Amino acid sequence: MLIVMNANAAQGEIDHVVEVVESLGFRAHVMPGATRTAIGVTGNQGAVDLSHFENLAGVAEAIRVTKPYKLITLDLRPDRTIVDCGDGAKIGDGSLAIIAGPCAIESRKQAFAVAEVVQQSGARFFRGGAFKPRTSPYAFAGLGEEGLKILREIREKCGLKIVTEALDESNVDLVEKYGDMIQIGARNMQNFTLLKRVGRSRLPVLLKRGMAATLEEWLLAAEYVMAEGNYQVVLCERGVRTFAQHTRNTLDLAAVPAVRRISHLPVIVDAAHGTGRNYMVTPLARAGVAVGADGLMVEVHARPDEALSDGAQALMLDEYEQMVREVRAIHEVIS
Ligand code: PEP
Ligand code: MN
Repeated sequence: MLIVMNANAAQGEIDHVVEVVESLGFRAHVMPGATRTAIGVTGNQGAVDLSHFENLAGVAEAIRVTKPYKLITLDLRPDRTIVDCGDGAKIGDGSLAIIAGPCAIESRKQAFAVAEVVQQSGARFFRGGAFKPRTSPYAFAGLGEEGLKILREIREKCGLKIVTEALDESNVDLVEKYGDMIQIGARNMQNFTLLKRVGRSRLPVLLKRGMAATLEEWLLAAEYVMAEGNYQVVLCERGVRTFAQHTRNTLDLAAVPAVRRISHLPVIVDAAHGTGRNYMVTPLARAGVAVGADGLMVEVHARPDEALSDGAQALMLDEYEQMVREVRAIHEVIS
C-alpha cells in the first residue's frame, strides 16, 4: 500500500501515520518529495484495509499497490533519487558519474597508476575488486582486505569515492569499513540474504543486473535492498547472456529508458562487462550516455595485457582519457 500525504501535511501528521502503520505490525518507508511526501507500506502479507489510513489527518489518499514493486516506483517517489556518497560525489543529480578503475586491485603500484589518471579526468569514483567472483576456482580471486587497504589509501590520497564488491555477507563488514559504495555483482543479484544485509548498510549500493535477469527481477532485487530501509541504490546495466558471439555479453541499452519509465532510481551503464572487448568499450560508453544513463562504469589498466582479470575489456590510460572527453561532450549536448 502507498499513502500519499497532502502537499502541506505537517511533520506531526506524517509521524502519526507512521505510528499507525507500525502499530499494525507493518513497516513504513517515508519518501519526502518536492511536492508531497509518500509513505510506502511493506510487511503485509495480504491486502490492508485502506480505511485505517484514509481518514487520518494529512492523508490525501491511500492506494493499493497492484504492481510487484512498492518502493522502487515512480508512484511512490516521482522525483528522481540522488545517491549521495558525500563531498559532492553524487549519482542521479544530472551530472555524469564516472566509476573507473581496474577490474581487480592487484598491487598498490597497479592501482595507483590508474587512480591518478581517474582523478585527473575529473571522475569522482574509483572502482576495483578486492573480492573477485571468478568463473574458475583457480583464477586470481582478489587481495581481500589487503586490497581494501589500498583502496582506502586511494580514497585518502586522490579524494575518490571507492566502489567495491562484496561477494558475501562476511565481506560486507569489510567493505563498509573501507569503501564508500557496495557493489553487488551480477552473479549475486538474487542472493537474497546478501541483498537484505546491504539493505541494512549505511553505504549506498550499486546493484548490477544479473546476466540472465529480466527487468522485473532486477527491480525486485533493488526492492529487497530498499525494503530493509536502504534507499540509496544505483542500478547498473552490465549486459546479459545471449546467443551473440561477437561480444562477452549483450549490453541492453534499452534497459535505461525501461528503468526510467518505472523507477526513480539512478541507472548507469557498464560498458566493460557489457561488451568484454576493449575496442567496443568507448563506442558503447558513448551510446550509454546518449541513451540517458546517469553514469558509466569502465575498467582501466595501465597494462591490460598483464591484468590478472578482465584485461580484454580494460581501456588503456590514454584510451580512458579520450573516452571521458567524448562522453562528457555527449552528456553536455543531451542535458
Ligand atoms: C566487476 O565489476 O568486475 C564484475 C565482476 O562485474 P559483474 O558482476 O557485472 O560481472
Ligand atoms: Mn571485471
